[in-house]
Amino acid sequence: MAEKRDYYEVLGVNKNATEAELKKAYRKMAVKYHPDQNPGDKEAEEKFKEVNEAYEVLSDAKKRAQYDQFGHAAFEQGGMGGGGFYGGGFEGFDMGDLGDIFGSMFGFGGGGSSRRNGPRRGRDINVNIQLTFEEAVFGCTKEISVAILDECETCHGTGAKPGTHAESCSKCNGTGQERFVQQSMFGAVTSVRTCSACHGTGKIIKEPCPTCRGTGRVKKTKKYEVNVPKGIDNGQTIRLANKGEMGENGGGYGDLLVTVYVQPNRVFVRKGFDIYCDVPITFVQAALGGEITIKTIDGEQKYTIKPGTQPDTVVTLRGVGVPNLRNPKVRGNQIVTLKVKIPTDLSERQKDLLRQFYGDAPAGAAKSEATAASEEEKKTFGEKVRDFFDKDK
Ligand SMILES: [Zn+2]
Ligand SMILES: [Zn+2]
Repeated sequence: MAEKRDYYEVLGVNKNATEAELKKAYRKMAVKYHPDQNPGDKEAEEKFKEVNEAYEVLSDAKKRAQYDQFGHAAFEQGGMGGGGFYGGGFEGFDMGDLGDIFGSMFGFGGGGSSRRNGPRRGRDINVNIQLTFEEAVFGCTKEISVAILDECETCHGTGAKPGTHAESCSKCNGTGQERFVQQSMFGAVTSVRTCSACHGTGKIIKEPCPTCRGTGRVKKTKKYEVNVPKGIDNGQTIRLANKGEMGENGGGYGDLLVTVYVQPNRVFVRKGFDIYCDVPITFVQAALGGEITIKTIDGEQKYTIKPGTQPDTVVTLRGVGVPNLRNPKVRGNQIVTLKVKIPTDLSERQKDLLRQFYGDAPAGAAKSEATAASEEEKKTFGEKVRDFFDKDK
């Protein structure tokens, strides 16, 4: 299968296109490439399919959001041989909106009521999975089991008792539609309606399958492996094409929509592809500088604090954030806030030293000229403080 073109590009609209703009663009393209306008033109046929596929995704708010997030991968995961979901031409094609457009453009498919009992795609099934912070960041594989309506093995989905067959409906000759002629003032008019004998399926089951009572579907518990891509975030959904509920009357399978919930992490908070955390530093490290170790999702990283670092100084560690979902080679940053720990259990001597440093005499005398203290004195003070706060513990 050739590299798929971007859906927005296919329709010739930009990424912020409104619903109305999409519809307009689609209409234009669909008319241009419609097989009726281009008989025997293979290229036009391909273009027509491409345009329909793009519109089917972008006109559905949910699918569009998925596409914006994951690109084509959103619809390929678990698909049958790549992009299987949309590869089936018009089988099981949901005519909802398109039916209206075509109806008005080409005068067919109007109303959609004739399809009510025709092939119907199975429902999409929603499941949730829990991920740890790391699983969401680095991606993982999760096994899930889900109870869905799937093909009945007794009758292989036909709905007929084994050894019997669903017979072609004699009333409509298997077409699912009845034609009848009405006389009007303009002459004879042929109308079409859903066959009342087979309800549009074109088949009559005389002896229904006992397992599924003629529906062709039974509830089954299915196990699937979900490939969770790197960089997925809380609340995002992974679509597994054709892993949902089995359709009716030959309609295709629905999709399985797996929504992820990411457990909060004790250290890290994620915003987009950046990771935020607080790192405590001592009063002494803030004042004098020094090397600290910062925990990142890749492991520990050394960082040198500058002397005179102020409380809540923000430090950015580049490229150790979350891999970008659409381009995992690009990673966010880690935003570190340095939290200065103020000691609360000082000894009398430590208190005196601090008072000296800040210019207050121990006995509450007037300010000394500590601000004018020589560099040598400051250093001595620093060493003393280091002794007290680091070794006193
Ligand atoms: Zn059955
Ligand atoms: Zn019939």
